[in-house]
Parts: sequence; structure tokens; C-alpha cells
Amino acid sequence: MKNILIVGAGFSGAILARELAERANCSTLVLDVRDHIAGNCHTYRDPISNVMIHKYGPHIFHTKNQRVWEYINRFTTFGPYTHRVKAITAQGVFSLPVNLLTINQFFNKILNPNEAYNLLQKLGDKSIHEPRNFEEQALKFVGPELYQTFFYGYTKKQWGCEPSELPASLLKRLPIRFNYDDNYFFDPHQGIPVDGYSAIIEKILAHPKITVQLNTKFTHDMPANYDHVFYSGTIDGFFDYRLGRIGYRTVTFERIDTKGDFQGSAQINYTNLNVPFTRIHEHKHFTPWEAHEKTVAFREFSKETEPDDIPYYPKNLQVDQTLYQRYCELAKTQPKITFVGRLGTYRYLDMDTTIAEALTVADEFIQRHKT
Ligand code: UDP
Repeated sequence: MKNILIVGAGFSGAILARELAERANCSTLVLDVRDHIAGNCHTYRDPISNVMIHKYGPHIFHTKNQRVWEYINRFTTFGPYTHRVKAITAQGVFSLPVNLLTINQFFNKILNPNEAYNLLQKLGDKSIHEPRNFEEQALKFVGPELYQTFFYGYTKKQWGCEPSELPASLLKRLPIRFNYDDNYFFDPHQGIPVDGYSAIIEKILAHPKITVQLNTKFTHDMPANYDHVFYSGTIDGFFDYRLGRIGYRTVTFERIDTKGDFQGSAQINYTNLNVPFTRIHEHKHFTPWEAHEKTVAFREFSKETEPDDIPYYPKNLQVDQTLYQRYCELAKTQPKITFVGRLGTYRYLDMDTTIAEALTVADEFIQRHKT
């Protein structure tokens, strides 16, 4: 195994290229259809404000995986950042994720952790034992009032369907806290890379045995020239959508340029259905150690992915899972291709999980081809 083709220059592709080059002496060609590396993590310095922009929406690095943390720290320094999100709702501004401050302010009470826990126990729908979907999961845990205010509208806008059609597992991304901790993430490691994510990917790819070719679309005649292919594009795209398209949501942004501080926080969610966007992110707050006179914020809108849109979030409705499984059957007929990453395996993956999986795929590949 000497010549490897890697499709996609995001975390999955870059890490596989580096590991195979470094540990197995493989020559790798990394292709990407876009004109930049780093996939949806791509960052750049805005020429107007000098703020670091996350082109495809906010990416906050967080992990509890020690191997991943050590790996990524080889390629960047992290600046101190803790993600704290606010929600603007029909009833006012609240702290997210739902925590003791949210509960007390929402119900206009002064409860301690035990009392708040007991209140949510009382409000939660006890008739739901095994939640079958996002809505049931939320109603079981927080009851109808908090569900309607914080989850129903946001989720409907984000996913374009009723929350009762979405998997229960989606809610597990959001903690409910009975203390005043408003850190959005549980993980011990969190931060924003001081030079952005594209600089990380650039360093990972900087190896004499790696060649990168941008603006290049994968074509089916390519694998013949390689010993193996790792493909991090969409699995339905690889098969030219011959069984149909798997569902993704895409997002679009409306840019706001101003001076000073636009919203006083990196991210504010707009949970009310009457507001057409889901959230506003103001990127200079992701790098609190930097000073900027100007500021840039983006209203984020969610919509169904059309053929020319960039796929972001796997919808994972039942019909999508069924179709994905059918593509997996087709993939078994392609022993030379390994599908990797968020798009290749059709999963809602955080960056740290993507990195962990790319390292494991590389370990297994190297192990298998040891002679
Ligand atoms: N969510 C919600 N209200 C919020 C934030 C999130 O109902 O204010 C739901 C929504 O369905 C969303 C999911 O929780 O898609 C996961 O949220 P997360 O903040 O992890 O989304 P991401 O930052 O990955 O887009």
C-alpha cells in the first residue's frame, strides 16, 4: 500500500493523509472540490475587521478524549474560550443550556438545585417511559413550558420538520443543569485555535509525502491509479445519487457589519418560531484575547439542502437512515474505498469525534497492511 487517494481536505482527510504518510510511508494525494482546505471548519481573517471568521458557522473545539487533545495540540495553540449561549425567546432573554438560572428566571422563583430538580420532575411527562423521538425526550425531561420556549421553535426551524419526527438522541447534545454552570459543554478541554482551524489543517497536511489539489472533483476513473481511496464526501454523492438523495440541512448567513459590540456574546439563539433565523454569532467573541474595533456577526438561517448547496447537518429521519443503509450495502461492493467522516458515514459528528475516528481508521489500516 503505497499510493493513497484521499477525497476531502477536512479533518478526516487531512489526518488520514498525515498518519499514513508519517507512519506507513504512503504517498497521498488529497483532493478537495472547494478552493480551500479544512472543509466546513474553514476559517479566515476578515479583511474589513481583521476578525477570525468561521466561514461555515461557529466551531468550538471541545473534547474529553486525551488522545485527540494531545494530537490537535501538536498543530495549534488554543486560546481560552468557554461557550456560553443565550436564548432570546418570546418571554425574554435566558441562559442556555437550561440551568438553574434559566429555571429560576423562567418560573420567577428562587429555587436551589434540589428544588429545581423536583420541579422538573413534577413538570416532566411521566407517561413517557422510553422516548421515541426528540419531542417525547424533551417533554419527559423538562415538561411542556420549557419545551415550547427553548426547544420546539428552534428545532422546527433548524430541521424543517416536527420535533416528533427527529431522533431522541438529538436532545442528548444539550445538558440540563440544576446548578448555575452555563458552560455549553461538559468536556474538560475546550478552546478556539489562536490561528483558526485552517491553519491546523495546513500544518497537518504539511508533509513531503502529501500533495493537495484544490478545485478538483473526484471522478470514478481515479481509484484505478491508487492502492486505496478514503472518501469523506457524501456517500450518496459517491454513487451519483442513484438510489436518491439522503436528507441534509444546510445553513445560509446574512452578514452584519458594525463597530464595537453587536450583541455582547458569541452566540445568541432565537428560539421563537416567529423569528426566521435560528441564531446570531458574532465572531470576535470567539477570540476574547484579541481586540477589534469593528465587528462582524451573522444571522443563521436553516433550510433543506438543494443539489448545489453544501450539506451540513444529517437529518437522520427514518427515511434517511433506510436510504443510508442501502448505500452502505452498495459500499460493500467497493472494497478499495473507505467512507469516512461526517458525510461519508452520515452522522452528526463533533470535530473531536471526527478526529478520533480518523486516527482509529488510520491505526486499523496500517495494522492491516503491515507486512
Ligand atoms: N436546540 C434547541 N434549542 C436551542 C439549541 C438547540 O432546541 O436553543 C436543539 C436543536 O434541535 C438543535 C439541537 O438541539 O439542532 C442541537 O443543538 P446544538 O447547540 O448542539 O447545535 P449545533 O451548534 O451543532 O448546531
